Amino acid sequence: SDDPRIHAIKSKIRVVPNFPKPGIMFQDVTTLLLDPKAFKDTMDLFVERYKNKNISVVAGIEARGFIFGPPIALAIGAKFVPLRKPRKLPGEVISEEYTLEYGRDCLEMHIGAVEPNERALVVDDLIATGGTLCAAISLLERAGAEVVECACLIELPDLKGRERLKGKPLYVLVESH
Ligand code: AMP
Repeated sequence: SDDPRIHAIKSKIRVVPNFPKPGIMFQDVTTLLLDPKAFKDTMDLFVERYKNKNISVVAGIEARGFIFGPPIALAIGAKFVPLRKPRKLPGEVISEEYTLEYGRDCLEMHIGAVEPNERALVVDDLIATGGTLCAAISLLERAGAEVVECACLIELPDLKGRERLKGKPLYVLVESH
């Protein structure tokens, strides 16, 4: 995008090579959060896109979707639903397993948090392989919701995660190669 806010946002994301293990270029958004103007611009860009889209639920993925999802939900008048790692939610849950580079992980959502025919936005900080967002989409669809879009700050486009999102659109602010 040509939006000048995007360049400032990208410049505030710190890239840490070989964290948490060799070969990973970790995209650290904590440095963006330290800059109130860049953080506000980030939230404004999402809110401008999702207001007036009739979205009733913002689903945020643990952990960094819990930073960026709630401000969007509050600004557009939607509810916020956390999608959590296993055994964190106290109520009855539905679960979706997904594959990681080594092994498997799982996301859970409270039963009854989302009702049939709700319009959902899924939020995370970053899409890599797309496995995490794919599991999130499945949870919402099992609850009967329509996933309108997935939104991330950062895409690693070389990993082609976008192609794993069951045909759902993906909106990102910045790409990292
Ligand atoms: P994936 O399921 O492969 O799309 O991975 C996305 C999830 O893993 C997101 O919740 C990200 O926060 C995290 N993640 C994967 N790769 C990175 C990276 N290079 N930097 C920061 N977070 C990452």
